[in-house]
Amino acid sequence: MFTSKESFKSIFQDNVVSKLGKTLEEVSSEDVYTILSRMIRESAGKEWAATNREFKDNEEKQVYYLSLEFLIGRLLGNNLLNMGVLEIVQEGLEDLGVSLSEIEEQEADAGLGNGGLGRLAACFMDSLASLGYAGHGCGIRYKYGLFEQKIVDGNQVELPDNWLQKGNEWEVRRDDRKVEVRFGGNVQVHEKDGELEFSLHDYEGVWAIPYDVPVIGYKGNKESSHMNTLRLWSAEPMREMASRSSSSGGNYYSYLDYNRSVESISEFLYPDDSQYEGRLLRLKQQYFLCSAGLQSILRTYDKLGLSYEELPKKIAIHINDTHPTLVIPELMRILLDEKGYGWDTAWEIVTKTVSYTNHTILSEALEKWPTHMVRELLPRVYMIIEEINTRFCGMLMDKYPNDPDRVAHMAIVFDDQVKMAHLAIAGSHSINGVAALHTDILKQREMKNFYELYPDRFNNKTNGITHRRWLMHANPELSQLVSESIGTRWITHPQEMVGILKYSEDASFQERTAQIKLNNKQKLASYIEQKYDVKVNTDSIFDVQVKRLHAYKRQFLNILHIIHLYHQIKAMPSLDMVPRTFIFGAKAAPSYYLAKSTIKLINSVANVVNNDPDVKDKLNVFFLENYSVSLAEKIIPAADVSEQISTASKEASGTGNMKFMMNGALTVGTLDGANVEMHEMLGDNNMFIFGLHANQVMDYYQHGGYNARDIYNSDSRIQEVMNQLIERGPFTNHNNEFDILYRSILDMNDEYFVLKDFSAYTEAHVQIDLAYRNRKEWLKKSIHNIGHSGKFSSDLTIGQYASEIWKIKPVDRP
Ligand SMILES: *Cc1c(COP(=O)(O)O)cnc(C)c1O
Repeated sequence: MFTSKESFKSIFQDNVVSKLGKTLEEVSSEDVYTILSRMIRESAGKEWAATNREFKDNEEKQVYYLSLEFLIGRLLGNNLLNMGVLEIVQEGLEDLGVSLSEIEEQEADAGLGNGGLGRLAACFMDSLASLGYAGHGCGIRYKYGLFEQKIVDGNQVELPDNWLQKGNEWEVRRDDRKVEVRFGGNVQVHEKDGELEFSLHDYEGVWAIPYDVPVIGYKGNKESSHMNTLRLWSAEPMREMASRSSSSGGNYYSYLDYNRSVESISEFLYPDDSQYEGRLLRLKQQYFLCSAGLQSILRTYDKLGLSYEELPKKIAIHINDTHPTLVIPELMRILLDEKGYGWDTAWEIVTKTVSYTNHTILSEALEKWPTHMVRELLPRVYMIIEEINTRFCGMLMDKYPNDPDRVAHMAIVFDDQVKMAHLAIAGSHSINGVAALHTDILKQREMKNFYELYPDRFNNKTNGITHRRWLMHANPELSQLVSESIGTRWITHPQEMVGILKYSEDASFQERTAQIKLNNKQKLASYIEQKYDVKVNTDSIFDVQVKRLHAYKRQFLNILHIIHLYHQIKAMPSLDMVPRTFIFGAKAAPSYYLAKSTIKLINSVANVVNNDPDVKDKLNVFFLENYSVSLAEKIIPAADVSEQISTASKEASGTGNMKFMMNGALTVGTLDGANVEMHEMLGDNNMFIFGLHANQVMDYYQHGGYNARDIYNSDSRIQEVMNQLIERGPFTNHNNEFDILYRSILDMNDEYFVLKDFSAYTEAHVQIDLAYRNRKEWLKKSIHNIGHSGKFSSDLTIGQYASEIWKIKPVDRP
C-alpha cells in the first residue's frame, strides 16, 4: 500500500501503463476509476486475508446479517476514506490534473435495495467492520438493482438499472465456494432403525455462486483496516440438469426453459417498498438466499470440528425483516435430516442462533405466503413449517386453554397462509423494533400477544447511520470543522460530537458552519442548474423531502402546503417571506398509482411556480429524479430544513431524519419513529414538531371519530387547495389526473390524516420562516443538531446489537 502522495503517483502511473497501455494524457475518467478501484481492491486483498486468518485462529464467533437488500451505493470514496488514503489520493490525482470527485462519479451505484431497510444493512456493514467485529453480510447479487427513475412530462418512467454493465471492480467471484440450492421435487419417507428419514427427489437444482465484496473498516490509528465480507449470491444453471431433463422426458428446449428460470432468480430486485409483493419468484429469491447462505455458514463452522450443539456459541444469524425467515425451517431441515438431531435439540439450536428485526407495522407489508406455494416450491421445508406450527399451537393451547381466538391469531399457519412474522418470532431468541416508539407499539399493540408470551425476547435497537459516509465523506468541510474544534476522537467515538455544543454560541464557529452550508448549497445548486437548466437561489431556505414515495410519508401534505403558499403569494405579491426552495426526490413503486400521481402533482406545481414571475423569486420547487445513495450524498449536506412528516405511528424509525440532523438541517416533523428520540435530545427549541401524536392516530383507527370532510368544510385554505386538484386551472388542464389524490382524501376519509395535520404543519412553516431570520439563533440550533447527531451513529447501534443480541466482542478494537 502506498504511504505517501509520491508513492501513490508512481504506482498509479505504473498501473496506467501496464494495465491500459496508455499514457496519462490518454486516460479517460473511466480509465482512472478502473485503475484506482483495482489498486485499492488489490491492496485491500492482503488485509482481507489477514482478517480472515485472525477469525480462524481465534475461532471467533461470527455474525451473519441476512438481508434481501443492501443499498450500498458507491464504494470508491468510502473505501479510500476507511483505508486512510483519501487525502493522499485526492492530492496525488490533483497533481496529475484529475479531480477525485469526478472520478467517483464514474462508479455505478450498487442500488441493491429499495430504501431505508437496505441502506440500514449497508450502514451496519460499515460499522461492523469499522468496530472490528466479525460480522458479514449475506445477500443477492441482483443483475438489475432498483430501477433508474426518469421524469418525462412530469411522470415517473422506470428504466432498468444495469449497474453491472461495466463490471464491478469490488467483487471477487468465488467458484470454489459455490453451493447447490434445490427447489420443488417430492419428499420420500423411509424408516431406518425405527426412525423416519426424509429425502428429496426429482427436485430442480441450481448453482448459487458467491461474489465476495470486501467490507473495509475504518483504519484510524490502527496498523491496518479490519475487513469483513459481504457475500452476494448469483444463480446459475447446473449443466447436470440437462441430462436430468432429457432422462425425465424433457429435451434440450426444456433445458433452455430451465436456464431462463434459473437466471431469473437473481435477475432483479423487487421494486416494492413496504408493500408486500406476493410473487413466486420473490419466494424463490428468499429461499435461494437462505439455503445458499446457510450452506456457506455451516461449511465454515464445520471446519471447527465442533458439534452442532455448540453452534450458537460460534454463530449468530440475524434476519433483516421477515424476508429471510426461511432460514429458520431450513436450519431445522439440515439439523434433522442431514445431521441426525431430534426435534427438541434442533429447535433449541435454531432459536438460540437466530434473531430478527421487525421494520414495519404497516399491515400491507406483513409477509404471508399461500401454503400451496410454499408446499410446491419447498416441500420438505413446508413439512417442517407445519410441524413448527403444530407444536407452537399445541403449546399455546396448553397455556391459554380458554382462549382459542388468541391461539388462532398467533398461529404460524392459518387460513392457508404462512405468516412469516409469526414464524420469525417463534424461531428467534430476540425480536427488535427499530426505534423506541416503534418497539413500544409492537409490544403494546401489534404484537401484544407475542410480547406476553415471550417478554424477554422483545427489545429496541434504534436505527443508526454511518457517520463516515454521511458526514465525513458527504460533508468533508463540516467534518473538518468538527475535528478542528474538538480533535479527531469523535471519529471513533461519535457520541463525543456533543463536544461542539460548547461552540454553539461562538460567532466564528457559527459563521464557519454557515459558510460550509452555503458552499454545499452552491454545489447542489450547480448540479441542479447543469442537469435541469434552471436557476437556483442559494440565498433561499433549502427545504428538502427525499425518501421513497408513500402515502404514509405524506409528500402530499408538503405539496398541499406549497400550493397554499403559492396562493398566498399570488394574493399578496409583497408577502414578507424568506425565499424558499423546496426540493423533492422520491421513487414510487411502479405499480403504486397514487404515489405516481403525487410525483406528477409535484412536477406540475414545480412547473407553475418556477415559471410564474409573481412567485418565482420567493418560491421554487424542484423534483430531482432518481433519488439514490449518491444523490442523497449531494442533497443532504445542502439542506436547511428536513421534512420528516409521516403520519405518527407509521414510520418505524427513519434514517433520513438522522442524516439531515448530522449535516445541520433543522427538522420539521411529527413525533414519529426516531424523530421522538431526536426531540428528546433537542427539545422544542431545536426542532419544529407538529401534528397528531401516535396514540391519537391509533385511537382514531381503533374508535373512529375522524371526518376529513368536516375539516375541508371548515377551512377555506384547504378547500381552495383541494379544489385545484380537480378543477381546470394552473396545475391541471387535463381532466381527472389528480382525482385519485382528491378522492383518497375526501372520499376515502384521508387514511393518513393529511387534512387533520395541515393547519399545524402550516403554522410550523411560519415558525421556520421566523426562526431563519434570526441568523445567530438558527445557526445555534443547527449546531445543536450536529452535536447531538453522534448518538445516531450506527457504531452505537451495532455496539448494542453486538453486546445485547449477538453476544460478540470486537476482534480488534479501534
Ligand atoms: C437513507 C435513505 C433512505 C431512507 O430514508 P427515510 O427518510 O428514512 O425513508 C432511502 N433511500 C436512500 C437512498 C437513502 O440514502
